Amino acid sequence: KPTVAIVGRPNVGKSTIFNRIVGERVSIVEDVAGVTRDRIYSSADWLSHDFNIIDTGGIDIGDEPFLEQIRLQAEIAIEEADVIIFLTNGREGVTDADEQVAKILYKTKKPVVLAVNKIDNPDMRDMIYDFYSLGFGDPYPISGSHGIGLGDLLDAVAASFPAPGEEAIEDDVIRFSLIGRPNVGKSSLVNALLGEERVIVSDVAGTTTDAIDTPYEFEGQKYKIIDTAGMRKKGKVYENTEKYSVLRALKAIDRSDVVLIVINGEEGIREQDKRIAGYAEEAGKGILFVVNKWDAIEKDDKTMNKFTEDIRKNFLFLDYAPISFVSAKTKQRVTTLFDQIKMISENHAMRIQSSVLNEVIEDAVARNPAPSDKGRRLRIYYATQVAIKPPVFVVFVNEPELMHFSYERFLQNRLRESFGFEGTPIRLITRARS
Ligand code: GDP
Repeated sequence: KPTVAIVGRPNVGKSTIFNRIVGERVSIVEDVAGVTRDRIYSSADWLSHDFNIIDTGGIDIGDEPFLEQIRLQAEIAIEEADVIIFLTNGREGVTDADEQVAKILYKTKKPVVLAVNKIDNPDMRDMIYDFYSLGFGDPYPISGSHGIGLGDLLDAVAASFPAPGEEAIEDDVIRFSLIGRPNVGKSSLVNALLGEERVIVSDVAGTTTDAIDTPYEFEGQKYKIIDTAGMRKKGKVYENTEKYSVLRALKAIDRSDVVLIVINGEEGIREQDKRIAGYAEEAGKGILFVVNKWDAIEKDDKTMNKFTEDIRKNFLFLDYAPISFVSAKTKQRVTTLFDQIKMISENHAMRIQSSVLNEVIEDAVARNPAPSDKGRRLRIYYATQVAIKPPVFVVFVNEPELMHFSYERFLQNRLRESFGFEGTPIRLITRARS
């Protein structure tokens, strides 16, 4: 999926445009995960194009001076995006800060689409001509507040998307990422997994996303560790900011089949762990909890159970995710992670035959009759699996409004009891039979 970044000096309307492009999605994700509350990263679509979008204005970079902040945001856009929307304000004309942004963007070979915002009506269109001086070709007049011109802008953006790469066809590779707060031991775990002290570096500026993934084979199975270099690299000012590291994590999650949520056994669970896990669930990824630094804590026969309880209590909606206790330092149980990842990835891609699926659903309904309301009873006609990664099931019924959340939950649990699905979210969609 291509990534689009919006860059521009403050007050040109970046968040307004971001929200317009994203539509209702942000609020949906927000409810479950609380991750995109910051509203800097979301999925979006335009016609048949799916993409991710970043509002670089939301990444504030410490106490750097104003122009420096703008410069760094432009650098983030160059590093993270496939296509950049350079946003300006038609009412104020070209400013020094716009020229600063332009100067940074000259350095990239990535496509830049210039947009002039706040052109709220056709009489104002003459205002865009000044913006040719920025050197990015035709400026696209838009109005974020009135929702004008976005279609043409997005057409231009989509026309610049890179051709789909080989990512989609590597079906035999399991892609996983290690996500967690700084110092939980992600880099150490990667080294332990790879079985050697490998220095993972990405020294080419503006590297393609693939260059930062590490391929690895274990017992005949191919894996790819996503964004391992990004995890290491801490050279630039913005790389130490929390929002940037969250952004990197979200991007890595999007590109993974299985997400390892690494928790520091010495410290326990923190708020950020929950938000990231929420996002992984929302994105429909396989999930494995990894409690690291298990060597460093004093244990008795109850310690593991207590930690397990803690995880279950804090991640109620992730009761299906297995938990591994490891030590990157002593390498204790580290290689068992590969077995877990493989098992989860198989569940994540599992297909259930319709006949078997419907037997399980019928049996579930026989045990626990479908809900009714005002004399109308929910009737389930049949179910079918419509997608994998994660598995999605459509249940055809007489009246979808009669499906209660609790009954849906019950059906999901029956599917889990019958088919396993350990480590993977599953989705159930209720539809009226046509
Ligand atoms: P990252 O920021 O998540 O990549 O964390 P690092 O891999 O850089 O590790 C942070 C610190 O924790 C380093 O000082 C490591 O040596 C230490 N560390 C990592 N894993 C373990 C472990 O399993 N046990 C112990 N005792 N220390 C660890």
